[in-house]
Amino acid sequence: MSGMTVLPATEDARPVGTALELLRRVFGYESFRGDQQQIVDHVIGGGDALVLMPTGGGKSLCYQVPALVREGTGVVISPLIALMQDQVDALRAVGVRAEFLNSTQSLDEVRDVERRLLAGELDLLYLAPERLILERTGQLLDRATISLFAIDEAHCVSQWGHDFRRDYLALSMLADRWPSVPRIALTATATEATHADITARLKLGSARHFVSSFDRPNIRYRIVPKDEPRRQLLDLIKTEHGGDAGIVYCLSRNTVEKTAKFLVDQGIPALPYHAGLDARTRAANQSRFLREDGIVMCATIAFGMGIDKPDVRFVAHIDLPKSVEGYYQETGRAGRDGLPSTAWLAYGLQDVVQQRRMIDDSEGDLAHRRRLSAHLDAMLALCETIGCRRVQLLAYFGQASEPCGNCDTCLEPVAGWDGTVPAQKLLSTVVRLQRERNQRFGAGHLIDILLGKLTPRVQQQGHDTLTVFGIGTDLTDMQWRGVVRQLLAQGLLAVNDDGFGTLVITEASGAVLSGTRTVMMREEPKRPSRRSGARGAGLAKANSDLDADAAALFQRLREWRAEQARSQGVPAYVVFGDATLRELATTRPSTLAALAGIGGVGQKKLETYGEAVLEVLSATPR
Ligand code: ADP
Ligand code: ZN
Repeated sequence: MSGMTVLPATEDARPVGTALELLRRVFGYESFRGDQQQIVDHVIGGGDALVLMPTGGGKSLCYQVPALVREGTGVVISPLIALMQDQVDALRAVGVRAEFLNSTQSLDEVRDVERRLLAGELDLLYLAPERLILERTGQLLDRATISLFAIDEAHCVSQWGHDFRRDYLALSMLADRWPSVPRIALTATATEATHADITARLKLGSARHFVSSFDRPNIRYRIVPKDEPRRQLLDLIKTEHGGDAGIVYCLSRNTVEKTAKFLVDQGIPALPYHAGLDARTRAANQSRFLREDGIVMCATIAFGMGIDKPDVRFVAHIDLPKSVEGYYQETGRAGRDGLPSTAWLAYGLQDVVQQRRMIDDSEGDLAHRRRLSAHLDAMLALCETIGCRRVQLLAYFGQASEPCGNCDTCLEPVAGWDGTVPAQKLLSTVVRLQRERNQRFGAGHLIDILLGKLTPRVQQQGHDTLTVFGIGTDLTDMQWRGVVRQLLAQGLLAVNDDGFGTLVITEASGAVLSGTRTVMMREEPKRPSRRSGARGAGLAKANSDLDADAAALFQRLREWRAEQARSQGVPAYVVFGDATLRELATTRPSTLAALAGIGGVGQKKLETYGEAVLEVLSATPR
């Protein structure tokens, strides 16, 4: 171990020092956060660790700092080759000697990296699992000094999750082949099943487990009734997130394309991303999202894992996610830098019908469909809750909490109401059509009957003679759709598997019809709220609290950063994060010494950018 000597970081020497010294000098941060200090100490001491920390919690430093303190090279196993270049660039920008080995390199490049590894000239080496398990790589690592193995995105080893990668299973060999090298596995997936899987499959039985709180307090969760999703989305972007980077998740490729086109037509720089695009287009769009400021990525869930972009200001879902786990992973990509961010979901009756149908149509045995159903039910419960969204989310991951004050239901409490009578009206309409006419219909027609509308279909079917015709005029069309949606969500109504989305009663419906069970519901807004976000409560905009001068300076700094990033071909955040620019804009340091005190300004960045930043600061008038 390198002891206490503090030497300046240069191109060819390892930055040395204690963990805290390195944190300050190399990364420019004042102190460790949460469990970081304990984790770092444990790994520096040679222990194995399993780290469960939410996205944005600061997992990277947990292995990067020990890799610098310990003798040798830290080997990082990461599933995404496409992102290795950015990860390595970010480390080099702070003076850490990092490289990767993957299939994109020429033989000469590979040889050079191997040579530097064996010469002890690398602090960190990134490898994909498929590379690691090659015997050639094993022999290479045998000859090198390895300080630690870090297994990033460790949930990929679990078959329960949605990111399973077969190659990850082979990582159990790390324990057998290099038993004296400490291993640290990291993931943002928190469920018990995944946790147990990682422990077993990576042979981390004797590792210390570090489980952080999964709360992401800077993210404001909002779930709104879906009306015209693209309009609502546009409204959200225009009123709260103009110029911000964001991700819009859609269920299908088709919706991705349509949404991206719609936004572009409205003057928002948006790009599509889904598995149907060729690899080159995907890579180009991903790269633009990472490198340029303010791009909105419209994507299927194929997009996002391993995306380290810290300044994603909003994640919007315009279709219902299939599970709370997936939803939390996806929304977690907002606000890694800790600044205020939005997770916004538009959800409606059609989502429930569609997802139930997809489950019925899905391949796989009954147990598999039950599992999908259970996932969907948990997601629906989150959508329909009248309590704090965050309390419910964290409870799903086994963590208790208090109402947060930063979600829609906390900011604008929703009333619950006794919906038993409307539920009975709707269910008995379904029953009558079924028993008296042997017919089944979807929500739209059922609601027309309840509202007493003489539509062509009502007349043609003679449904105006039913005793239930017109008994529901006390509620609006929108409120009835809410009733149907909530009955579906509570399992008191079901989608028939005839492929037409017609509705049928369930076993549980009987108790409602007979009056032995009451049905509590969430109050629907009177009219679909178009201005879904902008009301009262204050915008979740990261920079809305800056005064005019600081906001202008922040903007100027972003422009300067964009030039730097472009000329070096790296993502903007590799130059400086938004949090650093914000601090610069509000404190306006005027000397290099003062600049060094800003979060995210370490020694190397001070050397590279210090003078230029001071110039921007002094050239921008107050
Ligand atoms: P994760 O991998 O857990 O999603 P990262 O390692 O990418 O999180 O860290 C998220 C953000 O927090 C990064 O911008 C990082 O620089 C910042 N960060 C991490 N640890 C600290 C710290 N101790 N002090 C200040 N900022 C930190
Ligand atoms: Zn809340």
